[in-house]
Amino acid sequence: MPIHRLDRALTLKIAAGEVVDRPASIVKELAENAIDARSERIEVLFEDGGRSRIVIRDDGTGMSEDDLRLSIERYATSKISSEADLSNIRSLGFRGEALASVAAVSRLKIVTKESGEESAYELVAEGGELVRCDPAARPTGTTVDVTDLFFNVPARAKFLGSARTESLHIHRILQRLAVLCPEIGWEVRHGSREVLLAPRVGSQRDRLVQIYGGEIAEALIPIEIERENVRITGFVSRPDLRRSNRRDQMFVVNGRFVSDRGLSFVLSSAYRGMLRPGSFPLALVQIELPPQLVDVNVHPRKEEVRFAQVRQVQDAVAAALQKALSSQAVVVPLGPSSPRGAAHVNAPEHALHSSGQRTLNLHLGREMAVSKAVHEAEKVRPQADRLVLGQIHATYLLVESPEGLEIVDQHIAHEQILYTKLQREWAGGIARQVFLLPVRVEVPFEQAAIIASHLAELAEVGVVLDEFGGGTFLIREFPQALANSQARTGFQQIVEMLADTLSEGRDLKQMLYTKLLSNLACGAAIKAGDAIPLVEAQDLVDELMKLEDPYTCPHGRPIIVSYSKHELDKRFKRA
Ligand code: ADP
Ligand code: MG
Repeated sequence: MPIHRLDRALTLKIAAGEVVDRPASIVKELAENAIDARSERIEVLFEDGGRSRIVIRDDGTGMSEDDLRLSIERYATSKISSEADLSNIRSLGFRGEALASVAAVSRLKIVTKESGEESAYELVAEGGELVRCDPAARPTGTTVDVTDLFFNVPARAKFLGSARTESLHIHRILQRLAVLCPEIGWEVRHGSREVLLAPRVGSQRDRLVQIYGGEIAEALIPIEIERENVRITGFVSRPDLRRSNRRDQMFVVNGRFVSDRGLSFVLSSAYRGMLRPGSFPLALVQIELPPQLVDVNVHPRKEEVRFAQVRQVQDAVAAALQKALSSQAVVVPLGPSSPRGAAHVNAPEHALHSSGQRTLNLHLGREMAVSKAVHEAEKVRPQADRLVLGQIHATYLLVESPEGLEIVDQHIAHEQILYTKLQREWAGGIARQVFLLPVRVEVPFEQAAIIASHLAELAEVGVVLDEFGGGTFLIREFPQALANSQARTGFQQIVEMLADTLSEGRDLKQMLYTKLLSNLACGAAIKAGDAIPLVEAQDLVDELMKLEDPYTCPHGRPIIVSYSKHELDKRFKRA
């Protein structure tokens, strides 16, 4: 085929493919335009996961008739005008591509009125071509109405996910933008269902409360540091608040969400040793630096940036995280007797442990690690004659036993105790604790809807909930073994697992009965890194010794590592 120029419609579609790959990226571009237009209220409505319709209504500055006609042209923008502006970008948009791209792959209607103008104007475009532009009526602001997405790009339409998948993506993006702009009121509906309702608030913390619920927002530590010309602000979760994925890790550079492997690495390094494997902190890390020191023009959807001085930025983030994490420590009470209110206290001396400055350093040496087979052989029916001597590194309990010395992994031990209890309860019908005063829990909208539609299944496994609206539920009954102090932690776990199970299409009941048990136990158990009082440690070991097999957990991990007196004697050359 000889070289020839592609026609305009085709080039537009090709270019659009880079910017708008799915409904969520359209929502992102349109919402960012509304933010750039200094809106105070943004309303989003989408249908069928955004595939059939996306409407975004704002009360921002609006556009004049001339601007409206230009807005759907490629490389037409009001946000930059010279090359110099490119290195000093303060708005979210700047390329003038979004509306042109959306117009190219959909039927588009924009109604807008600029403040101070007499009339509003309505523009209709189809597949990138202007159909009409006439006077209309509306208050100051802009409404962008996108229908029949990808009607003229069947290849792209085929790759769209289910309505549920697409709406999850949309929800996530809007949730993030809402976190970024607490001074804007957000109202989002999927069909007739409200999925995000966040009236404008005065601070980012208040916005986090609206979105994640008070329980989670309470577990957030503010971060703040200023170094040379880099300023870091935001929030990170205390190590006891764990999420099962990285979805709630947000990095923002000069007001723009970015994904950056280097920064993710800095974040996980800061939490090293504080979280169990497979759990992730929640983080909102906002980086502000002079616009000349960051290139935002390196990714078609502006999801990545390039720093002029990467190290400087990473070091500042690491310092901010370290400062926040070492100023706090978390002590979670063990067992049902501890009042919930005492769950979190600051313990500065414990903080030394978590920040890595060890005060107690027992080197038992790797070669001394006793194999499972050895203590299988030495296994005697344990009695309640074990004395807990102390806790090391807020993780292991040192125990004097009649045979010698035992080291107990507190988390696995507690997990095993809870797991056994749950199993016993499930077998004989679930013992439920009925709360006289129901426990209030708040969950994100996304998960609230899923929970609301599975109340009956949850009731079958002992979790009886009343929907209170706005993402709030009241726990009426809860499995006895978990009821006392851990209801909220346990509940949060159930919600996350339910949501994940449903989105993966696995069998709910099967999951609830098997995986739920061990996850509930794991989630409710004390963690590595939790300092616990000696009396509670003693209770834990006594309980552990009542189990059928206190030495290994069902997954084969050791609970107790033991050293016989004989072995110790040998090592000290007494034998
Ligand atoms: P960019 O945001 O990169 O400038 P867009 O294609 O998204 O490019 O928008 C083109 C122009 O249309 C913007 O520069 C802005 O002037 C105008 N515009 C788009 N959406 C809105 C809106 N919601 N309110 C006011 N002006 C808007
Ligand atoms: Mg834009």
